Amino acid sequence: MRSKIVAGNWKMNKNINQTEALLSDLSAKLPDTDAEVMVAPTFVNLLGAVENLEASPIEVIAQNMHFAESGAFTGEVSADMLLAIGINTVIIGHSERRAYFGETDEILAKKVKAALGKNMRVMFCFGEELEDRKSGNHFKVVKSQLKNALFHLDAGAWSQIVLAYEPVWAIGTGETASPEQAQEMHAFIRNTISEAFNSTVANEVSILYGGSVKPANAKEIFSKPDVDGGLIGGASLVADDFIAIINGI
Ligand code: PGA
Repeated sequence: MRSKIVAGNWKMNKNINQTEALLSDLSAKLPDTDAEVMVAPTFVNLLGAVENLEASPIEVIAQNMHFAESGAFTGEVSADMLLAIGINTVIIGHSERRAYFGETDEILAKKVKAALGKNMRVMFCFGEELEDRKSGNHFKVVKSQLKNALFHLDAGAWSQIVLAYEPVWAIGTGETASPEQAQEMHAFIRNTISEAFNSTVANEVSILYGGSVKPANAKEIFSKPDVDGGLIGGASLVADDFIAIINGI
C-alpha cells in the first residue's frame, strides 16, 4: 500500500514567531489520520520547527537543497546540514525553483542523486505550463521531466521518491486542475513509470497533486484512485484550511 501524504509548502512565508504560532495551532488541531502530514518552512526556521514538533507526528521537510556535499556555494544548504537537524525529506524541482532560479532537469537530476545518496526522501515536483496544455503537449512535457531527472535511477531507489504533479498554470492562481484532469495525468504518470521500471514501482510510488488545493476541492481531488494526497501552498499557511484539507484525504 502506498502512503497518503498531505504536505504544506510554506515557500518564503512566515517569520520565526509566525512559524511557531502556526505549528502550535496545527499540532493542537491535527486530526487522527492515516496520511503522513508534512510542513516545509523556510530554511532559517527549520530547526525551530523540528524542535517545536518533537512530540508531533507532523514531519518537517525542506523546500530545496544543493547537490554539493559542502564548499564554496554561497547561500546554499547541503543534505548533510539538513540531516544533522533531523530533516530527512526534501522537495526538489518545484516550478518556482525551475522558473526563478534556473534549475534545469540536469541540475535537478544531480540534486535527486545527492539526496538519495544520503538516504533522504525526495519529493520531486514537475508539471506542464499553460502553453503545453493548450498545445496538447502536456503528457510529453511531463514524461520528459520525469525521464530527465528520474529514469536513470535503480528501481530500488523509488522507495525514497514521492512525486508531486503540479501543473504550473494551477499554482497560486486559484485555478485548479479538475479532479478528472488530475486523475488522467496521475494515471499517465503511473503508466509511464510502469513502462520505464515495473508495475510494482509504479503502484507503490505516491503521486501527490499540487496547484490551488483548498478545503473546498481537496476531498474530490483526493478521491481519485491515482491521487495519493497533495502538496499545498497558499492554503497550508492557514491552520484551519490545512486541517480541513487533511480531513479531506
Ligand atoms: P498553491 O501552491 O497551493 O498555492 O497553488 C502549490 C505549490 O506550489 O506547491
